[in-house]
Amino acid sequence: MYDKKKKELLQVCKEMVENDLVVGSSGNASLRVGDHILITPSSVQYSTMTAENIMVLDLEGNVVEGDLNPSVESPTHLEIYRQREDAGAVVHSHSIYTTALALLHMPLPPVLDEVVPKLGGEVRVTSYAMPGTKELAKNVVEAMDMRSAVLIANHGAVCCAKTIRKAMEKAILLERTCKIYLLANQIGDPIHLPEDVVEDESDLWEIMRDF
Ligand SMILES: [Zn+2]
Repeated sequence: MYDKKKKELLQVCKEMVENDLVVGSSGNASLRVGDHILITPSSVQYSTMTAENIMVLDLEGNVVEGDLNPSVESPTHLEIYRQREDAGAVVHSHSIYTTALALLHMPLPPVLDEVVPKLGGEVRVTSYAMPGTKELAKNVVEAMDMRSAVLIANHGAVCCAKTIRKAMEKAILLERTCKIYLLANQIGDPIHLPEDVVEDESDLWEIMRDF
């Protein structure tokens, strides 16, 4: 089933590794096709992963196709798809600077002009929950709200978008912005964008939903 979509997901996973968003078999990614979710398997290295390894689930998490275990973070992916009709793809990254902010439970404020129009606003941090739990899924959906990115406390981040490529682009933007923000924090207190600019950019996000 969905061979072309599986290959597309696999290709993006390989690019996640190239962009240092994940290493080994960590992190995970998925996309929605109709009532089905294509998701990466658990504990398979991206370097050896094939399109046949990609699992097909229904929205309740039942395996529709595939011989492996679906990603341990399937509950989070599924909860996003159930709660966000606009979400077509989800990327869960463990990228370094993003995760550093997540360890500090420090949200990423709108310090660069791309943050609000591309990520939907300040990137909030979830309450802590153990990996793979329904509680983590609930916390992610709650903290992300209608935005497209969230930091997972002491863990990493989740980005969602209409397509898997856009979700990965958002994860790359998030990592780059967290890096710049943390670097600026080493030297002084980064100045946030003026409030009226953030308001205008929020309107832009609402209208364009560049998602
Ligand atoms: Zn993780």
